[in-house]
Amino acid sequence: MSTLPTSSREWHLVARPHGWPKAEDFALREVPVAEPGEGHVLVRNLHFSVDPYMRGRMNDVKSYVAPYQLDRPMDGGAVGEVIASNAEGFAVGDHVLHGLGWREYAQVPARHATKVDSSLAPLSAYLGVLGMTGLTAYAGLFEVASFKEGDTVFVSGAAGAVGSQVGQLARLKGASRVIGSAGSDDKVKLLVEKYGFDAAFNYKEPRPVAEQLKEAAPDGIDVYFDNVGGEHLEAAISSLKLHGRVTVCGMIAQYNNTEPAPGPRNLALFIGKRLRMQGMLVNDHVALQPQFVQEVSAWIRSGELKYDETVVEGIENGYDAFVGLLRGENTGKMIVSLTR
Ligand code: NDP
Repeated sequence: MSTLPTSSREWHLVARPHGWPKAEDFALREVPVAEPGEGHVLVRNLHFSVDPYMRGRMNDVKSYVAPYQLDRPMDGGAVGEVIASNAEGFAVGDHVLHGLGWREYAQVPARHATKVDSSLAPLSAYLGVLGMTGLTAYAGLFEVASFKEGDTVFVSGAAGAVGSQVGQLARLKGASRVIGSAGSDDKVKLLVEKYGFDAAFNYKEPRPVAEQLKEAAPDGIDVYFDNVGGEHLEAAISSLKLHGRVTVCGMIAQYNNTEPAPGPRNLALFIGKRLRMQGMLVNDHVALQPQFVQEVSAWIRSGELKYDETVVEGIENGYDAFVGLLRGENTGKMIVSLTR
């Protein structure tokens, strides 16, 4: 064990952000590294995930996942290499997916570590396209929105990790038209040229989302996959056809609000159009995991499904990566890599 590192840096939340997070709300701290306890492995993290849901965990409110504690390390998805093992079935050199990100070295209970194969996919893919965000797209489209061949699908946040996969899954499964919205002209170009969307628009243009959506989907939409909420949701409700479905996956447009956001003003349309809107949590859909991995990895191998990652290097840049994600600085999955 003499080769183990003596210290590890980890990100702590030191104050609860009010509105947009500020650098002073976080601290990168150095802590000692211990040998793994009984049933634990010591993992050198190679990549960790920063995700929009983490913003909610910075608030002291009861939710589906516990809030981060002040002056404690933050956590989240990570992949790394086992450098010491005190757990049956895990050996030094194994690569594992686990939930103790935001730090260089993690003491992981073996029951919370899943071995992953770096020969099948790059390790970072297990945080994105083959991981939590990929499963969110898959389950949210096929299970929650009850997608069927011939549907016209609209997805917001379409150049992000979940959104870029939703659009491509819809196309691969026979959607008649796939439309995406994103926050820059470059992202809009990428949606059409690389991911094969039929139409896309920049929601930051001065024109209302409703107007741009009507232009992109003149005959209306069957499915709206909502990653952002707000103006997008209201616009989508107006464009939904009879028996249209909405998957409420995320509402990133309001995660930094300090006051409750007003609701869509057109909810009465649900009645005449018999619309259905359903929230989702990816953890409810883990039973789909094997089918999802099999299908999506085949599409990645054949080149039919493309994905991007925005990689920020260095633990010291973890906060910048997180805030960058909220600002839209990522294309595809935002990852912090510690491989330097
Ligand atoms: P993304 O990779 O999509 O990154 C977030 C993106 O949100 C940014 O790149 C930015 O892109 C966009 N964005 C930021 N602010 C706004 C805004 N005001 N209006 C519109 N778009 C905005 O993140 P994920 O793919 O990880 O997550 C996407 C959504 O899915 C989030 O809402 C997240 O909370 C949710 N989610 C839900 C899960 C569940 O189980 N329910 C699981 C995983 C994710 P742009 O440049 O286009 O603005």
